[in-house]
Amino acid sequence: MTNKIIKTLILDKSIRLYFTDNTKMLQEIMELSKIKDKTCYLALAKAVSIMSLLSVTLKDNQRISAVITLTDKNYKMYADTDAEGNVRGYVNQALLKAPQQKNSNSTLQDFIGTKASIRIMKGFETNHFTGITDMPYQNLDDDFAYYFKQSEQTDTMIQTKVKLDSVSYLFKSYGIYAQALPGAEEGALDLVREQFEAENLAPLLLSMNDAGIEKALNQRFNSCKVLEHKPIQFACHCSKEMFYGFLYSLSIDELQKTIEANTSIDTKCHICGRNYVFLPSEIQTILQTR
Ligand SMILES: [Zn+2]
Repeated sequence: MTNKIIKTLILDKSIRLYFTDNTKMLQEIMELSKIKDKTCYLALAKAVSIMSLLSVTLKDNQRISAVITLTDKNYKMYADTDAEGNVRGYVNQALLKAPQQKNSNSTLQDFIGTKASIRIMKGFETNHFTGITDMPYQNLDDDFAYYFKQSEQTDTMIQTKVKLDSVSYLFKSYGIYAQALPGAEEGALDLVREQFEAENLAPLLLSMNDAGIEKALNQRFNSCKVLEHKPIQFACHCSKEMFYGFLYSLSIDELQKTIEANTSIDTKCHICGRNYVFLPSEIQTILQTR
């Protein structure tokens, strides 16, 4: 059951509980990210895993995107998703090229630092809400939960587990998201967190069918129900139009030269690796509008 979010209601419909094995999707995204630094790799993987869980909280053509600015403000990580479960994630060029952490044991906490922030944009193309919070926990999971508490006044519990193999390749990823609904008892989310941690419950549940999941959940939490499975996948929304901006950034002289040499300009999306080629005739059109 990979690349699907399992949506459930537990504790007498007072808690929304979503969980996923998003290993395949994350492997694809992390491969494209080209990140060499292990801690940076882990951080992006966790951020993207969190985003994939948030996709099921969206409706219609809503989108949610997060920008994580590390303590060193030059370094940023991006992750976004939509209601269709399309997920992306990448880091900026400065972070990609940053000197690798010398100490291979450097922690996520050190990597994020004490002055990092999360900025989240949520809504529709034309109408969205932006919120920003700092990252007091320096571990992403609790920082995102903190964001939802501060900006949307919702009590949320987020847990992501990312396992790397001996060559720092992602080989397993799980994510759990729980949200308290009106009527949830005080401390209910802590109970869910403790139970999942104590038993490593996510992989167990993900190995079961719906009937098995409901039975296993009912043994631990009251009156549980599996609602649906929602697919998630890596998808980049880039288009050729987005790369016209790059061409506009070139000088008239440079554009003129490529036309004279009858060569095309190749551009590449650094998120998905897709190539966009601009033919001399298209470059001519750009020149005419300048
Ligand atoms: Zn792309």
